[in-house]
Amino acid sequence: MDFIHDDFLLHSETSRRLYHDYAAGEPILDYHSHLPASDIAEDRRFQNLCEIWLEGDHYKWRAMRANGVAERYCTGDASPYEKFYAWAGTVPFTLRNPLYHWTHLELKRYFGIGELLGGTNAEYVWDRANECLQRSDLTARGILAKFRVRALCTSNDPCDDLAQHKAIAATGTECKVYPTFRPDDALLIHVPEAFNEWVNRLEQASNREVTSLSSFLDALKQRHDYFHSLGARLSDHGLPHCYATPCGDSEAAKIFADARAGKATSTDEQERFASLLMLFFGRLDAEKGWTKQLHLGPLRSVNTRALRDLGPNAGFDTIGDARQVADMCAYFDLLDRESALPKTIVYNVNPADNYAFATAVGNFPDGSIAGKIQFGSAWWFLDQKEGIESQLNALSNTGLLARFIGMVTDSRSFMSFPRHEYFRRILCDLLGREVENGDLPDDEQLLGTMVRNICFENARQYLGLELTPAIEKRKEPSART
Ligand SMILES: [Zn+2]
Repeated sequence: MDFIHDDFLLHSETSRRLYHDYAAGEPILDYHSHLPASDIAEDRRFQNLCEIWLEGDHYKWRAMRANGVAERYCTGDASPYEKFYAWAGTVPFTLRNPLYHWTHLELKRYFGIGELLGGTNAEYVWDRANECLQRSDLTARGILAKFRVRALCTSNDPCDDLAQHKAIAATGTECKVYPTFRPDDALLIHVPEAFNEWVNRLEQASNREVTSLSSFLDALKQRHDYFHSLGARLSDHGLPHCYATPCGDSEAAKIFADARAGKATSTDEQERFASLLMLFFGRLDAEKGWTKQLHLGPLRSVNTRALRDLGPNAGFDTIGDARQVADMCAYFDLLDRESALPKTIVYNVNPADNYAFATAVGNFPDGSIAGKIQFGSAWWFLDQKEGIESQLNALSNTGLLARFIGMVTDSRSFMSFPRHEYFRRILCDLLGREVENGDLPDDEQLLGTMVRNICFENARQYLGLELTPAIEKRKEPSART
């Protein structure tokens, strides 16, 4: 039997039944990803396995580096096959790392390859996968259809003209592709050169002059409106922690003017300015019924030499240990006091924060929206079996698992869609085992409905993204016993 078999990770009969009869048939709503919309617009065909699987994948680079592989095979000038060969040789050393599961799940689902990857069969896997990549079901659009992705949300700078999203919409794909408003660069006021360069781009994108704080906010609102007009219903922020230090308008106007004049601001001024902006963004999202995502807590680019040579997002980030929850609650509270708290999803990267995050989201309920503030799916270093179970447990024990809006790939690769399957198997295994222990009732209707909701329906209802009507019929429960 292949390592990845039908009942992979499903350790009880009830787990298997829940997965196969309820979870597996659900479509995917991938509401947070970093896939380039241009690949979908042009229906990119991937030339080889390196291109679709290794490019930009800092998880794999980290494992290769940890295995003593030279940088030229990770991000350097080695040939695509040399890079793949270096990765294949590393795979046997990734046992118990989620990469081991992901790798074999992906090889199986995309190319039907059931063998364990290693240096000895690298050439065979390379040839077979590359042959498969020429098929029409493995182009960018082919993959979205194959995995039944009903909507995909990309992450976009507010200055993005979203031409690719318009092009995709014009072709009427079954998978809707929406932008997500991610204005991280608007907070770069403490780096005046980068900030000013970005504001100049914002002026062009919004077609208005930015001469003051108020015109800056106007331009940002124009972009938010524009994203909305193209179907966007989510924003996203990557922050070391929430900003919630009150800042008066005149104070913020002065900080803004100083930065525009090229003057470096202090850390305190940056915190205040960022707080003002984050409250502004919260109001924009609340007004339009959007969902705000907060990715909190990583310590980024801690290796100066790597940052200089390779740039950011190259695999030199770590789990931060800054305090999160007081600032997060203060931020929610400031918005809530003016009835401007949008639906929000918080993602933590430090597992020590699981319970604190899970309880923090329960303090600002809204009688009209179930699960208004969501404790997001296990993220980044926590996106693995233990991390997923820990997130599910913390959420179950302090809130309502049944209202959870489920998994996202958060990926830069078209090979990552089986992450939804991986999550669903872990979810069903957890529930099934508890049913068999007698900790949960053996009520298939109750549990099956919850599973389906977490896989797709909760996210559909909560996010309010427009989807194309479903054409596929849901798989009916089988007669398995
Ligand atoms: Zn992300």
